[in-house]
Amino acid sequence: MSWFKRDRPDDKKPKAIDEVSKKVKTEGLWQKCDGCRQIVWKKDLAANWNICPKCGHHFRLDAVTRLRLLLDGDYEVFDAGLRSTNPLGFVDSKPYEKRLEAGYLETGLRDALIAVRGKLCGRHVEMCSMEARFIGGSMGAVVGEKITRAIERSLATRSPLVVVSASGGARMQEGAVSLMQMGKISAALMRLDQARVPFVSVLTDPTTGGVTASYAMLGDLNIAEPGALIGFAGPRVIEQTIRQKLPDGFQRSEFLLKHGMLDAVVPRLELKAYINQALDFFCAQ
Ligand SMILES: [Zn+2]
Repeated sequence: MSWFKRDRPDDKKPKAIDEVSKKVKTEGLWQKCDGCRQIVWKKDLAANWNICPKCGHHFRLDAVTRLRLLLDGDYEVFDAGLRSTNPLGFVDSKPYEKRLEAGYLETGLRDALIAVRGKLCGRHVEMCSMEARFIGGSMGAVVGEKITRAIERSLATRSPLVVVSASGGARMQEGAVSLMQMGKISAALMRLDQARVPFVSVLTDPTTGGVTASYAMLGDLNIAEPGALIGFAGPRVIEQTIRQKLPDGFQRSEFLLKHGMLDAVVPRLELKAYINQALDFFCAQ
């Protein structure tokens, strides 16, 4: 038996002093703003729909608050009890069932999307709102089925569809099953298009991967919140593939608008009025 042993590279190391103080700064009642680097009182932030009162930086908004922002009042929720069966029996660092359970405990939702019927400025709409805190807002069979059913309700009632995306893309734990949702949703959207029922896609921070590559970019109108990360692959993967340095602001809403990938960048507090005006225009056609 040895009397001593060497440090291994993977041993836990004590935290550096500045790391500790950084943690204290953002804990509790205060939040450091990524936009202006100032300290903001969390209550002020919540009262302002998670927009920094000092610089206008848009923090992420949860799915339920999003519905409260965009809809007039009460709404009817559909398919709240749908949940994944773990079709692949997937286990990574922990079983997929445990991740689903943790997502449920964190958000009170059984999957990463709420599908509702409500009124927007007095007009009936079908709305889907994604929850990024539920396994990164990833799209699996449940998200795919809920959106598809929302599209079918839109078709049946001819009320417009609004989908608010906040997603890391397809859900790894459901493999090919999650990729199939892209085709399934896109096919349903094509039928909605043929029936000439309007679909407005709202892209919020973050909208990436298979969600960007399918329904988030298939709206009659694709609009985004300021400063939202929108893309397919991450910047590091792209840089390694094309061996070029990417420009500043790459994959942010303003950059995508400038390059023709989006129709508009709309501040959060103007979103409802903007969507209403767009639907006025579509429905008059
Ligand atoms: Zn700020």
